[in-house]
Amino acid sequence: MKIICIGRNYADHAKELGNEIPENPVIFMKPDTAVLKKGSDFYIPEFSNDVHYELEVVLKISKGGKYIQEENADKYFEEIGLGIDFTARDLQSELKEKGLPWELAKGFDGSAVISEFYKKEDFDLKNLNFTLLKNKEEVQNGNTSLMMFSPEKIIAFVSQYFTLRVGDLIFTGTPKGVGKVSENDILEAYLEEQKVLDLRIQ
Ligand code: MG
Repeated sequence: MKIICIGRNYADHAKELGNEIPENPVIFMKPDTAVLKKGSDFYIPEFSNDVHYELEVVLKISKGGKYIQEENADKYFEEIGLGIDFTARDLQSELKEKGLPWELAKGFDGSAVISEFYKKEDFDLKNLNFTLLKNKEEVQNGNTSLMMFSPEKIIAFVSQYFTLRVGDLIFTGTPKGVGKVSENDILEAYLEEQKVLDLRIQ
C-alpha cells in the first residue's frame, strides 16, 4: 500500500505558507509505516519543535490502474475518509530552502492519521464540509468545492506516473488554518456532522 499526498490543493492554504499556486498537483508520498495505529496517541517526534496538523479528505483506491482518464477516474475509488497529514514544519522549511525532498518532514512514523472509510455515495464529494477542532475550538474548516484539483483530476494525473493498486490512499490536500500541536492537545475531525477522528497529542 502506498500513500500519495497532494500539496497546495487549496489556494488559501498555499497562500498562508507563502507558496505559489501550482500548475500541476504537487505530489509527495508517505511510506505505509507512517500510518498511525487506530486508537493510538500521536507522539511529537524528538526531531521537531513545530509539528503541524493538516486535515485532508482521503480517497481509498478500490481498483488498480494506470493512465486512468479523468472521465473514468470516479470508478477507481468507492470510499472516502479524513486524514491528518502531520508535518514537521521546521524540518520541511529547512529541506525546502535547500531544495531537498520533503520525506523526512512528511513521512515519519505516525504522520498519517486515517479515519474509518465511508461510502462516497453517501456524501456530495463536490461540496463536502470537513472540520478540525483543537481543544474544542475550530481551527480548520474546508470544503471540497475549493479544491484546485478534483479527486478525478488527481487520479488521472498521478496514474500517469504511478500504477494505482487496491488499498492505496490519496491525501487530497489541506485547506487553510494549519497550525502547531502541543502535548495534551486533543484533535477532533468531522466529516460533515459526523465525528470521525479523536486524537490525543503526547
Ligand atoms: Mg498536506
